[in-house]
Amino acid sequence: MGRQITIGVLALQGAFSEHVQLLRNAIHQLGQRGVAKDAEWSVIEVRTPAELARCDALVLPGGESTTMSLVAERSGLLEPLRDFVKAHRRPTWGTCAGLILLSESANRTKKGGQELIGGLDVRVSRNHFGRQTESFTAALDLPFLHNGTDAATPFHSVFIRAPVVERLLAHKDGEQAEEKARDDTIVAPAKTPKDEVARNYFDAEVEVLARLPGRAKALGSGATASEEGEEGDIIAVRQGNVFGTSFHPELTGDARIHVWWLEQVLAALDRRKDIPAR
Ligand code: GLN
Repeated sequence: MGRQITIGVLALQGAFSEHVQLLRNAIHQLGQRGVAKDAEWSVIEVRTPAELARCDALVLPGGESTTMSLVAERSGLLEPLRDFVKAHRRPTWGTCAGLILLSESANRTKKGGQELIGGLDVRVSRNHFGRQTESFTAALDLPFLHNGTDAATPFHSVFIRAPVVERLLAHKDGEQAEEKARDDTIVAPAKTPKDEVARNYFDAEVEVLARLPGRAKALGSGATASEEGEEGDIIAVRQGNVFGTSFHPELTGDARIHVWWLEQVLAALDRRKDIPAR
């Protein structure tokens, strides 16, 4: 029998079924390329701690982060999610609202009531580009896809009340105390890596994986990032096993990021497996 790999998609609210579909598509593509031939993949929707406990890796979809955190709390999932991401550092990817939940610091919503999971030492600015009506798509060149198939085709990225990473924070096991002291800011509670594997192999600083090259360009005014003198907003980051994107790759039919992420998951699982049990 092959090795079982279970990928979960948090299914409390938002665009979870789109992620499930694209993950299945990506698994099919990996199979066609002969990657991880021995793997028996399952993609499951996660609504309970028991379902989360079955997962080797997890996706947090786009949607409404405030609602997701409230439902997670009521379902008894918030602490198990923090354990999954921060204590065990299992591979996790958050898109849009999912990125907000995975951030250690975010600006507060007017309504309040939001809790963060954390895992990425960043501060996000939510609804950075304005309201729903100011949603846009951008054709992005994503450097982390450069080794993949079809790398030259730009990735059509959908930004809907999207957050951006406003600041990279120094990696801390504890709470981001300086962030907590800021007005109108919420931070995730501390959660120390529990297992040694998590600490030694999956602890890292935050890396910037992609930027939106100048808002002017994304909005189609014709100006380029360099003309505008803009470095561009940070829209994709990774820290060890935790990955976040501002946009919604689940809302396009393009599975390239899902393929890339599953390859990262395979590498992380191999690494964990190769570490001798003590
Ligand atoms: N701004 C939303 C939030 O705070 C996220 C939007 C999205 O996921 N499309 O959750």
